[in-house]
Amino acid sequence: MSELRRDPFTRDWVAIAPGRRERPQRMPTPAGSPVRRLPAADPACPFCPGREEATPPELWRLPAAVDTAPGAWRLRVVPNRYPVVAPAARPARHHTTGLHTEAEGIGSHEVVIESPDHDWDLPDGDDTAVADILRAYRTRCLALRDRRPGLVLPFRNHGAAAGTSLPHPHSQIVATPIVPARFRQLFDVARAYYDDHGNCLYVDHTAAELADGERVITATDHTAALAPYAARTPYETWIVPRRHQASFADACDEDLEQTAVLLRRVLTGLRDLLGDVPYNYALISAPNGEEMTAYFAWHLQIAPRLTEPAGFELGTGIAVNPVPPEQAAAELRQVLAARPARIGSSRP
Ligand code: UDP
Ligand code: ZN
Repeated sequence: MSELRRDPFTRDWVAIAPGRRERPQRMPTPAGSPVRRLPAADPACPFCPGREEATPPELWRLPAAVDTAPGAWRLRVVPNRYPVVAPAARPARHHTTGLHTEAEGIGSHEVVIESPDHDWDLPDGDDTAVADILRAYRTRCLALRDRRPGLVLPFRNHGAAAGTSLPHPHSQIVATPIVPARFRQLFDVARAYYDDHGNCLYVDHTAAELADGERVITATDHTAALAPYAARTPYETWIVPRRHQASFADACDEDLEQTAVLLRRVLTGLRDLLGDVPYNYALISAPNGEEMTAYFAWHLQIAPRLTEPAGFELGTGIAVNPVPPEQAAAELRQVLAARPARIGSSRP
């Protein structure tokens, strides 16, 4: 029998329906597509080294090691050439006409070029390379958050089914001039929990999940990787800090580095288990001005794209997940236990 579960953070419902896996089509196959290797450089790629003029002026960079060529880099952050929102010196104006409200598309849309190697991917490198990406997020989140209302969101798309249009390893950071309704809902739920219990819902949740263990994938002293109780997609994984911190922009080095360790471990596990699975991840933090809040904590949400939302999801908002998170966590634990020595090797 399927089970309807209520998400403790959103109060949205999810159907955990393993029976849906029996359908001959569309079931997530634990033997996904093999990893597709690309050339190490592509002369047509705007993010490859030597094509720096193809991007607008750089916002931030990590230089390559000193013994490499002058001007060489290991990571760059540049403005997106096709931005969803663009910078301006003034705050976005809102207009309301009748029932319709609009805000000017003022904000920022940046690309984090994660490696000079066209074919690199997060599981391929070492923990330091992933920590460098998170350092870029932290630096830019700090630079972009201001006293205007809004949100700063680092995210990554991997694979065509997850919306990638360019294969060079990259992620994006968008700063919006509004706080989406979904965040208001997260805040309302977390605030109500704080009123009742005097603690942060996210920190209490992490402690309870670590004590229970069934949905824990892997953990370090400072961070944990969990399959959420009301996972909306098969193998959805959250990486969370164990101590309270509302905004990733304020994460300490240890939290950041241990998040990198878990992120690489989880993506390696997903790749071992499912092949080159498409996924999105989003690094969710408190909106601008709420950085000091006691009731919200940042979290990195990784959502493999193995199912297609259809009419039921459209009509109800209820996600149908054919893989129970307890099973997903057990499979990921098992696959990670089988390869600790290989994590850290450069290529699979
Ligand atoms: N892009 C860019 N400069 C280019 C070509 C692409 O800034 O010369 C941006 C593009 O707008 C896109 C991003 O690079 O936002 C690639 O992102 P991704 O493939 O993850 O997904 P998309 O944003 O296209 O859905
Ligand atoms: Zn490239």
